[in-house]
Amino acid sequence: MGYNIAIDGPAGAGKSTIAKLVAKEKGYIYVDTGAMYRGLAIHFLKKGIQPDEKEKIIDACKDAEVSIGYEDGAQQIYLNGENITSMLREEAVGNMASISSAVPEVRAKLLDLQRNLAKEKDVVMDGRDIGTHVLPNADVKIYLTASVECRANRRFKELREKGIECNYDEIAQDIQERDTRDMNREIAPLKKADDAVLVDSSDMTIEEVVKAITGLCR
Ligand code: C5P
Repeated sequence: MGYNIAIDGPAGAGKSTIAKLVAKEKGYIYVDTGAMYRGLAIHFLKKGIQPDEKEKIIDACKDAEVSIGYEDGAQQIYLNGENITSMLREEAVGNMASISSAVPEVRAKLLDLQRNLAKEKDVVMDGRDIGTHVLPNADVKIYLTASVECRANRRFKELREKGIECNYDEIAQDIQERDTRDMNREIAPLKKADDAVLVDSSDMTIEEVVKAITGLCR
């Protein structure tokens, strides 16, 4: 069994930024499970499926193979052998992932892939249900959160810096909708594991959050 650090939390809490830095400092592998859900979402979108077409989503799971690899230390996602990493962050993909991830067949499809990675390697794995469901025996569990205003502000600044036109209110609303879906779905909802350490990053720098987490690791 590898040494496992689980980082869960809502959309925009900075999980991937923090998890990548913790993984680098510790020399562990970073596993972004959201990217796997996004990979399957691309498969559904390629087939012309709408987010509310649950039966079609279930059926489409049968011919989707998501796998993970690393190039210069950066995680790559493959869908049926094709590297689709550059498409993962598209808006439509995030929306499809947020809705289709509530379908049990979609979650089942990715569970073994996630567990096997953690079995073989020392990992920092981020997602929504890692500490509660995927790796209930993880060595360190973190629930990383921040206020909706803070998360929306960070995303707004990030998009503006990339020169992308955006609206703060729309971003805040989108974050709230994703929180509601993730926290209220029947299967593997987003919640803090009883034995997870709560880290609210609203008033913390990235360095402070990384230090707080690495301080809990071996
Ligand atoms: O974290 P990210 O925004 O990339 O994840 C995409 C979507 O996948 C999220 O909106 C969430 O609903 C879903 N997800 C999940 N369980 C995970 C990781 C992500 O349901 N472990």
